[in-house]
Order: sequence, then structure tokens, then C-alpha cells
Amino acid sequence: MSKKPEDIFNFTATSDDCIKCGKCIPVCTIHQVHPDETTSPRGFIELLGAYQQGHLELDKNAKDIFESCFLCTNCVDVCPNSLATDMVIEEVRADIADKFGIAWFKKGFFFLLRNRKIMDFVMKFGYMFKTCALANDPQDRGLKARFSLPMIKKGRLLPSMVKTSFLNSYPEEILAKNQEAKPQRIALFIGCLANYNYTGIGDSLVEVLAKLNIDVFIPKKQLCCSAPAYFTGDMSSVEYMTKKNIAYFESFMDDCDAMLIPEATCSAMMTHDWAVFFKNHDMADWEARAKKVSQKMHMATAWLDDNTPLQAMLKEKGKRFDTAVTYHDPCHAKKVQGIYKQPRNLLSANYPMVEMSDSDRCCGFGGVTMQTEKFHFAQLAGMPKATMIEETKATYVSAECSACRMQLSEALNHAEVETIFKNPIELIAEGLK
Ligand code: SF4
Ligand code: SF4
Repeated sequence: MSKKPEDIFNFTATSDDCIKCGKCIPVCTIHQVHPDETTSPRGFIELLGAYQQGHLELDKNAKDIFESCFLCTNCVDVCPNSLATDMVIEEVRADIADKFGIAWFKKGFFFLLRNRKIMDFVMKFGYMFKTCALANDPQDRGLKARFSLPMIKKGRLLPSMVKTSFLNSYPEEILAKNQEAKPQRIALFIGCLANYNYTGIGDSLVEVLAKLNIDVFIPKKQLCCSAPAYFTGDMSSVEYMTKKNIAYFESFMDDCDAMLIPEATCSAMMTHDWAVFFKNHDMADWEARAKKVSQKMHMATAWLDDNTPLQAMLKEKGKRFDTAVTYHDPCHAKKVQGIYKQPRNLLSANYPMVEMSDSDRCCGFGGVTMQTEKFHFAQLAGMPKATMIEETKATYVSAECSACRMQLSEALNHAEVETIFKNPIELIAEGLK
């Protein structure tokens, strides 16, 4: 919440502002799994200052260090000077990408994110042939790699795959039953993992909005929010997808009451980082446009709890389950957007809630590089979360973020913990059935 976007390119100023107090070090996700001063917020900032002053070469060693940050923002939260370590790291990754290029598989992935139709085709093809390389997880939490693939170890749990994406499963307009009540009109932004892998999230959101008698508009030409490219330093992909999305959203946003996003990372990217990106790349007109469209964007649980009678409806008419839920706070929800009460308010109407020992601790997803080339760090960061989830004895772990879902499902699979991950919207929709 307390970032300083104006400082992003001034690595030296950020370094000068660091009072070396070390408050950030105990909470730093990479430092917890790789305890070294160079892989800590204070160390990153020091090295960035040295790099900008010409005292540090951006060599492979420096690349390795700057790519080890999880971008979790834990450090920003505790820093007395609110230094935006995550954002200066994001910017130096653009320099790294310029100098070293982007690995072929990441380039291919970002190309698919930019081209929805080709991505649709590739995912359909992948679904048809998934059994060649992937096996069903007995608990239906995802798919297990049958053998080691490039960047993916045998036995690793990957997201499930579907025959038809969420966006291709619904008409563009779904009208509420009672039109005489003059329903609100809500646009949905679905996010790539929920579009291609965890489609139950979108299905559930459509069901919940129908129960609330709200018109649903599903914008079919939406592209990825661009977070995966942003975290990797592929700024040309960020610029392309962001501008396409903004121009498209402007064409219908005035006719909608809100745009709901059931994903913390997409929501943080769209409501916060889009404007920062344009500001720091001297595109003031696009910055203003990003700010304008983002005024109507909201994380789904936050908007539903703040603006609809959903909580009362769940309490009055919803089912009572005895299956306990523990809620993990995605970094991009609580630390970046201040959202943590609303999902708990809604879930507690139908489920017994049990808090894990440290719901704020980062799950360890970390982005595309962390999930591939640096997966050993993601795995180490996920282990304490799997343990604290197991200790709650909850049936479900929930978080409004599919990146957390992918990471925590794998961590639970690795630790042989049986807890199932569900997005809160899926659990809420169950309560209303
Ligand atoms: S963003 Fe997270 S991993 Fe990166 S320096 Fe800050 S606390 Fe450490
Ligand atoms: S908390 Fe902030 S000021 Fe203190 S060492 Fe970390 S980055 Fe520097």
C-alpha cells in the first residue's frame, strides 16, 4: 500500500534512503530460504545502487541474485521508509532481459499470452494429449508430471486442464432473472489460470452473481493482465497487453457498475501496477487511462462483501458445513490492496474458520522464473506453508489467487498433506447451492 513509484528508476536514491535497519530481513521470503545478505531486501538495494553508479556489472551472478526475489512485498510492508524493493527489482529485470534476452520457453509463453486464439488452440491440443505426459492426481488437485520435462521435475503437481476455456464456455451477456428490479451490470476479468485451468472459479462467480440478480458481461477479447511478463522484465509484452486491455475496457466500462477480478495478482497488477508502469515509462496519457479504467476494478470478494447483501444471504439461506476452512492471505491481496477481511466475512457465514499460524507468510509462488529455473527456492518457501496448513486440520485451504493455488497445491502434494485448495468464490457458491 505504501509504495513510492517516483523512486523506481532511481536505484541510487532508493539505496541512499535505506537506513540499513534490517527490519526487512526476517520477513523476506528469499532470505528465509537462502539466508545471505545479497539475497535480502537490504542487499538487493545496496547492489542496485552500486549497479546504477557503475560499481557493479550486471553479469550472470548479479542476474542470478536479482532473479531470486519473490516480489512478495513483505519488505515494503515493514520498511520504515516504505522502500519499494519489489518494484526496483521489477525494473532491473528489464535491464537483465535487455542484456541476456529472455529464455525461449518464457518468450513462447508470453507470445501465447499476447495471442489468445493461439493460446486457446495450444491449450485444447494440450488437453487432448495431456495423458501422454501428465497423470491425474488421486485427489483431483491437478496433474502430475509422469516424467521430467524441461524445467519440470517428475511427480510435480501442475494445474488441471480443461477441454473448453471459461471465456469460450459462456455467452458474452448473461442477464439476471428479474429485470424489473433493474439489476446492476458487472464485467468479469477472469485471469489466465482461471480461464484455462481452474475454470470452477468463473463458473462459481457466474452462479453467485445470478443468485444476487446481477447482469454479467463477459468481455471475450480480454488479454492477460501482463503480470507474468512484468515480473520477468518483458516490458514490451507488458506494454502490448496493457494497452490492448485498456482500450478494450474503455469501450464498455461506462456501461458497467464494476469489473470483478477473482484473482489477487491480476487485480493488483491492473489496479496498481498498470499506472505505475506507464508513469515510469513516460506515458502520461496511458497512465491517466489506466487510472480511469481501474476505478471500477475490484477483487471479487471485496466488492461482493462491500456492495451486495451476499453475506446476509449466505447467513440466512446458505448451507452450514462442518468442513473447516483456513484462509491464506495472498501477498497481492493483503499487502498490496489491503484486502483480507472480506473473504473471511463471506466464508465464515457457512464454514467453520480456523486460522493458520502465519496466514501472511508468502506461499512462495514468485513468478515464471521462480516456478521454472528457480523452483528449488519455491519448493523450500512452500514447505512451511504446507506444515502450517496441515496443523489447522482444515479440509480446505482458500485464497483468492490462482498463483497461490498452483504453488500451495504443489507444496501440499509434496508434503503429502490432503488439504484441498479452493478459491473462496467456489466455496461461497457451494454454500448457496
Ligand atoms: S519482495 Fe519479498 S523476496 Fe523480494 S526482497 Fe522483498 S521480502 Fe524479499
Ligand atoms: S527495512 Fe527498509 S530501510 Fe530498513 S534495511 Fe530494509 S530496506 Fe533498508
